[in-house]
Amino acid sequence: ADLALSVARARASSAVERYTGELQTTLTRRAMIGDLLPEAIRAGLIHLHYQPVVNLHTEQITMVEALARWTDPELGPVRPDEFVAVAEANGLIGDLTDLVLETAVAQAARWARAGSLLGVAVNISVHDLEREGLVGTIREVLVRHGLQADRLVLEITETAVMSDPARSHDVMVALRRLGVGLAIDDFGTGHSSLSYFRDLPATKLKVDRSFVHTLLDGEDDRRIVRAIVDLARGKDLVVVAEGIEDRETFDLLREMGVQYGQGFFMARPMPAADVDVLLTTGMHLPALRGLQG
Ligand code: C2E
Ligand code: MG
Ligand code: MG
Ligand code: MG
Repeated sequence: ADLALSVARARASSAVERYTGELQTTLTRRAMIGDLLPEAIRAGLIHLHYQPVVNLHTEQITMVEALARWTDPELGPVRPDEFVAVAEANGLIGDLTDLVLETAVAQAARWARAGSLLGVAVNISVHDLEREGLVGTIREVLVRHGLQADRLVLEITETAVMSDPARSHDVMVALRRLGVGLAIDDFGTGHSSLSYFRDLPATKLKVDRSFVHTLLDGEDDRRIVRAIVDLARGKDLVVVAEGIEDRETFDLLREMGVQYGQGFFMARPMPAADVDVLLTTGMHLPALRGLQG
């Protein structure tokens, strides 16, 4: 019995050590990200990948979403949700958003000059909505690059929108006046009420990946997606499904009335040069080629 007890104690204490070790690593990594991020932003070491958004009916690319990428020599690749959280906590998110906006708008303007209609979506943070100069900054970037406002979509998560609903509403109205599109990202995971939704000045709803990747498994997620499609229809909002990973889900979403989709099945986020190649092939994705009809 004594032996069993000491084995149990040893196990427990090694579990605590392991936990402490992991916590230590997480904290150290977070601290390192915090130390290295300002320089990475300043030096433009954060670059963008672009993930195609596809019309589920024509199977053509209609736009791309800009997604931030950072590989540090010491830390290796750092995921955007990791460094965005640190940027938000450390007051760097404004600089990060400015860098992403500048890069994405410049790129979209290059595509427009090449004769393409490709639009670009940029993710903005809850903190950006609180910035005084956000609307002015966006107008200035568009004008400087000569990009039509309707080629830019700003993605704001439902959670961000709902953190200060009145403020978000006012900023979104001002952004719509500018002519940019507005997508509610990760829709279905936030807490918007139907009355808030009724007056929501958005142009798009992006159905969160969590409902999409289990869509084939059961009726629950299908009911949720159908409800979102119905809500969107009543307000003339475009619906985009995120996280489509297989043909069956792609087909089911189209049958359910979802117009657009994004996901690894069609294309992963890619460098701008790879998007250039798609432009020369008539905006059809290799994964979908030959599967039409
Ligand atoms: P998000 O805006 O919802 O972006 C979609 C995320 O889903 C991307 O992850 C994308 O790579 C991933 N994804 C797309 N299709 C699939 C799929 O079929 N399966 C799976 N498993 N994942 C898929 P990523 O690039 O890691 O970005 C994560 C989040 O980080 C983004 O979620 C966004 O909230 C944030 N983020 C990324 N770039 C920026 C940025 O420039 N600014 C801000 N504020 N946030 C950003
Ligand atoms: Mg997004
Ligand atoms: Mg999303
Ligand atoms: Mg997301």
